[in-house]
Amino acid sequence: MIFEHRHDPLRVVIAGGGVAALEALLALRDLAPGRVAPVLIADQEDFLYRPLLVGEPFGLGRPRRHRLADLCADHGAELIAGRVTAVAPGDHQVAIAGRAPVDYDELIVATGARPYPAFEDGVTFDRDLSGEEFDEALADLAHGLAPHVAIVVPTGVGWTLPAYELALLTAAWGARHHADEHRVTLLTPERAPLEAFGAAASREVGALLDAAGVALFPGVHADVVTASSLRAGGSWMDADRIVSLPLQAGPRIAGLPCDEHGFIPSDARGRVAGVDDVHVAGDAGTFAVKQGGLAAQQAEAVAVDLARRAGALVAQVPSPRVLRGVLLTEHGPRFLRAELGDPDGTSELSAQPLWWPPTKIASRRLAPYLARLEAEGRGPGAVAMRT
Ligand SMILES: Cc1cc2nc3c(=O)[nH]c(=O)nc-3n(C[C@H](O)[C@H](O)[C@H](O)COP(=O)(O)OP(=O)(O)OC[C@H]3O[C@@H](n4cnc5c(N)ncnc54)[C@H](O)[C@@H]3O)c2cc1C
Repeated sequence: MIFEHRHDPLRVVIAGGGVAALEALLALRDLAPGRVAPVLIADQEDFLYRPLLVGEPFGLGRPRRHRLADLCADHGAELIAGRVTAVAPGDHQVAIAGRAPVDYDELIVATGARPYPAFEDGVTFDRDLSGEEFDEALADLAHGLAPHVAIVVPTGVGWTLPAYELALLTAAWGARHHADEHRVTLLTPERAPLEAFGAAASREVGALLDAAGVALFPGVHADVVTASSLRAGGSWMDADRIVSLPLQAGPRIAGLPCDEHGFIPSDARGRVAGVDDVHVAGDAGTFAVKQGGLAAQQAEAVAVDLARRAGALVAQVPSPRVLRGVLLTEHGPRFLRAELGDPDGTSELSAQPLWWPPTKIASRRLAPYLARLEAEGRGPGAVAMRT
């Protein structure tokens, strides 16, 4: 059945309040001005800029929060506070916990992924759920109580770069506090360090790890067995503290299809498989790499598709193409870039910015907009470091 859009301008409901939701909002306002009436439904008051969570325990800046109400007001979007619990595609409605359902002509699901610990034991690096555990591990390292820290990338993690930052920054922290006695080990299922960025960047990351004295074990599927022992590649390893990245589960929204991990399948334009007028963007989708820059590129592709549906003359853009990442090191940030289709042929690592603004989450509209807010003194203020 072909659904006649009920509203003019087109009522586009965006579920979520993160990178993908905001990039989609900004792109829609840009690409289809006057043709779209956006509505954001978010279960948090603020947009949280997560990448800075890694530097926080080392004193390298604090995560930034922006009020969604301000961002929506700036872009002429209605904001509804609430948690989307289900979608009724036949009725073109989303159900919201404790509130009346909301109508849509087009729906973008951008609700992200939910982190959960990969192992029962050890420390999970999750600043929201257990931030103090990592802070205690750092304090123990500084006091000589826990000289060997192992950082583990569990099999299935969609964005491994924070583990490299943790390893490099923890090694620098150990050197600063206990010069000779500290040891940092990094275990990852990747065959080479940050291999998604291609061979050249990977070699340079390997050299950075070497120079920092981090012992790298690539290509291993580690299993943390107790708080101080793990099994990897058939051998056992002991460490005083074992820190693992969390795994992620998809949003599993009733009424929409999902894979066994709860992620929502779509085509390259973000159209949800088998469901009319519903798109997905960002970590909520099945794309294996869960990363803000890619979430923004997916949101752009979705916005283009919807702008065309709303009658705007815009060219279709291919879904994510470029991986960009900033690695925090004690010697300053390192910028990494590679095209997803040819990582080895396009692999780059530089101490100089490879894009502008040189933010950790690279995006066409959200990053420049947030940079502008801060330049105008309208940002959240915690701008100790710009990456
Ligand atoms: C420690 C750490 C470091 C990172 N470093 C980088 C980095 O350097 N570079 C980079 O590009 N990426 C980085 N990332 C990844 C990046 O933060 C995510 O990939 C990105 O935030 C995904 O965007 P998203 O919009 O899909 O999801 P999210 O940003 O998670 O946003 C989802 C939003 O939807 C809301 N929501 C969830 N469920 C519902 C619901 N049912 N109803 C309504 N609202 C809902 C949430 O509250 C949230 O506001 C990092 C992540 C972490 C945790």
